[in-house]
Amino acid sequence: MLPMEGSPLLHVEQTADACIKCNICNTVCPVSAVTDLFPGPKYEGPQGQRFRAGIVHGESPDISLDYCSSCGLCTQSCPEGVMVAEMNSVARSRIIEERGGLRWRDKLVCRPTIMGNLARPVAPVVTWALGNKGIRLLIEKVMGVHRNAAMPPKFSEVTFRGWARRHKPPVDATRTVAYFHGCATEQYEPEVGTALVRVLERNGVKVTVPKQNCCGLPLISNGDYPAARRFAARLNGKLRASADDPGVIVANSTSCGMTLKSKYRELLGVDDPDANAVAKAVYDIGEYLIEMYDDGKLDTRFGRIDETTIFHTQCQLTAHGVGAPGLDLINMIPGLKVELSTVGCCGMAGTYGTKVEKYGIAMDVGQGLWEMAERIKPSFIVCDSETCRWHIAKATGLPVYHPVQVLDRAYALAGAQSTTRV
Ligand code: SF4
Ligand code: SF4
Repeated sequence: MLPMEGSPLLHVEQTADACIKCNICNTVCPVSAVTDLFPGPKYEGPQGQRFRAGIVHGESPDISLDYCSSCGLCTQSCPEGVMVAEMNSVARSRIIEERGGLRWRDKLVCRPTIMGNLARPVAPVVTWALGNKGIRLLIEKVMGVHRNAAMPPKFSEVTFRGWARRHKPPVDATRTVAYFHGCATEQYEPEVGTALVRVLERNGVKVTVPKQNCCGLPLISNGDYPAARRFAARLNGKLRASADDPGVIVANSTSCGMTLKSKYRELLGVDDPDANAVAKAVYDIGEYLIEMYDDGKLDTRFGRIDETTIFHTQCQLTAHGVGAPGLDLINMIPGLKVELSTVGCCGMAGTYGTKVEKYGIAMDVGQGLWEMAERIKPSFIVCDSETCRWHIAKATGLPVYHPVQVLDRAYALAGAQSTTRV
């Protein structure tokens, strides 16, 4: 289906006209740098778009489009505002529509909540099974999920919301925020959510946990826009009351936060009062804490951590346009030596690096980071995105934390921690 006049999708596609063929996007694309299977953003984006425009059934001129990882670095680097990554995403969604929908592997990897819920009653068994070479080989053959691809480090027996229901909020908070924890924190890494709550409460902020569902980002990345629109409508409906009051919704997943902030509108063409109110209210947690710091409201009495770490700036974090607040925050911790990753993307890109045909590309994209970890030998690595953390941990063998987990540890070392930990 071609976009209607005035549709945001049409806006994305029309930015192709601004391309001046400077090639800057080609210099930052991590995928075309490591494989000949993908000819690069300029060819795949604005040049390919000229062939797609006007095609009634929306075919892409080249199936190599599917190798775009949606990292977004091309859009961020383009001096002319060409929305290359978004254009590729829209074109991919048309290919999927033309094919009649996603193949079953992609349908499954797009539904982290279903996988987490199915696994929870037998979480230790699933965690063991996913670490078993024979079972992983079988999964690769049957499903096309690479045998060595990173999975959640463990399938959690408890959910974040289960912890939050038992948690007693502070009585002396001076402000309140709502928390969009997303699927990864709820299903696989509740410890990230509990750390986020403790860090905010340490700073006098009460955290509410509104009802929510998956934002649908995996569906967007894999090209199933109709299903993603249904997820978006449900989520915006659930978060609307929090967008009005308390008016701030913090998110710890940079990619999911970005989806709520702008991708529903840019990619799915969602433009309604609920979506717009939610988009305005969403903050990345690092962005929110740095604003508190700028206002002189952040407690900077951190305990010492005499260790070395690498901070990996996840590609979608830069799309928020707020710098790297997680880096600025952990740089305040006394004793912590922070090296900045020189790699723009670790290669994982959500579910991209799990697929058998793309796993090798994902590993090659992250090669510079693996070498940096080998050279520097940090105690741990810090990264804002969950799937990137899992990929980096698998490739380097090191623990990888969200910035709030490091802040939480530094606060705990400074004393006065009393809340229950997962
Ligand atoms: S950076 Fe922008 S203007 Fe330059 S080639 Fe790429 S899309 Fe075109
Ligand atoms: S989104 Fe990333 S992988 Fe895709 S064309 Fe742009 S830079 Fe390359």
